[in-house]
Amino acid sequence: MPPGGIPGAGFFSGFSPGDGDHRGGDKSVRGQVADRRGVLVYRTSRAFNRLAFAPGTRRRAVVTGVVATAERAGLGHLLHVAEQAVKVPLYGCRDCGDCSLEEIAYLCPESQCVKNQRNGPCGGSRNGECEVPGRACIWVRAYERLERNGTAAALLDRPPTVQDNALRRTSGWANCLLGRDHTASFPRPGSEPSLPSSRAGSTSEHRS
Ligand code: SF4
Repeated sequence: MPPGGIPGAGFFSGFSPGDGDHRGGDKSVRGQVADRRGVLVYRTSRAFNRLAFAPGTRRRAVVTGVVATAERAGLGHLLHVAEQAVKVPLYGCRDCGDCSLEEIAYLCPESQCVKNQRNGPCGGSRNGECEVPGRACIWVRAYERLERNGTAAALLDRPPTVQDNALRRTSGWANCLLGRDHTASFPRPGSEPSLPSSRAGSTSEHRS
């Protein structure tokens, strides 16, 4: 099942969500992994993201201009309130201000992972399960969502995320658009990707 090109593919190869029996038939964990509502959230979120945040597009330039103007006018808090109104019910957002939703198939690492793992599964996960009993690993859930869309090969195909804790309780949308968060170091269309050497040579389709 897992593509050989994924860094850390060994972790995913130990898990076969399709057989539904990776934890002796525990239905609660299976339910998390199946995550059918999550697939809908993922697809809707991805469409919104491409509409407003796709790098190098005219749309993004317009939205960025609006956000910058709002901040200069002292109205940045309104965007923050609107963002939280969307993200808290949809993702369980914890208002970190340095959003990694797009990189983890629209699963929030702050609320869905006890260790806030932003760069892949930790050493405590086994066969798709978190070391906390009864939980599926957030990275397996992400893999499942992406696999349904044929984009799982790009799951970890990006520069590592270094979270900026100074951004807490600020707007993640504004921080992304105005280049203040970790995504500012990600490759942009028309630029040479700055992938670590261990990942150089692989392709990226997740971040468009
Ligand atoms: S802004 Fe941070 S806490 Fe909120 S959804 Fe994104 S990653 Fe999670």
